[in-house]
Amino acid sequence: MAKKLYLIGNLKMNMTRQEIEPYLDSVAEVANNANNVVGVCVPFVYLCMANKKLSNSKALYGVQNMNSKESGAYTGEISPKMLQDFGTKLVIIGHSERRQMYNETDASVNEKNKVALSYGYTPIMCFGETIDEREQGREFDRVRSQIELGIDGLTAEDVKRMIFAYEPIWAIGTGKTATSDQAQEIISFAKGIIAEKYGIKNEDIVMLYGGSLKPSNATDILSKKDIDGGLIGGACLKMEDFKSIIYTNVE
Ligand code: PEP
Repeated sequence: MAKKLYLIGNLKMNMTRQEIEPYLDSVAEVANNANNVVGVCVPFVYLCMANKKLSNSKALYGVQNMNSKESGAYTGEISPKMLQDFGTKLVIIGHSERRQMYNETDASVNEKNKVALSYGYTPIMCFGETIDEREQGREFDRVRSQIELGIDGLTAEDVKRMIFAYEPIWAIGTGKTATSDQAQEIISFAKGIIAEKYGIKNEDIVMLYGGSLKPSNATDILSKKDIDGGLIGGACLKMEDFKSIIYTNVE
């Protein structure tokens, strides 16, 4: 039986209004015809448009970050409460670009996961090691601590509602992809940590791979046992490439 994959685009800080309008129309059309689950995380300014164009389609949509506070003197920030009015489903939390450039920590990731869940959103919690950590053989320790701290205080029901994304930092936007065996090895390890903590099964956990996923490597990576889909940056910007990944069919 074909595996139902989650294929979620992260637009990052890309696209003008003129570009994203037809793009979202295509996302709706492709999502309605695909056997896999399709999602897209847009810049905040396009959330209203995503709501108009995707809310009657099968596509899931959301954003790439949020503040954990409900309101207040936080100039330039967007609160979880504001996202409610736009049918938001997905919120990427702890993307490595935010951890590295905007000082997100495991503690803030944990807090945001809790808040996102309390609003009924699906956090897409990102984790992954740096190249130095991998070269020093510390990738498993790093992943363990990111997972343990990120889900601290959550229940089994909470983690079953989440999406996790293993994104080795050295593979994001670099063109270097983890091999399918490397991705499977870490994802199986990370699922094992969560499964053991809550007494649940690996199959109860949704975990994606992200990092230079593209049409040429999608089938190999996505066919691995514990990999439930992909978080896609660069390749989601070209609809033809995104579409080709979305139509991946693996057992
Ligand atoms: C990402 O930023 O989540 C990502 C996976 O990017 P890319 O596909 O460009 O490596």
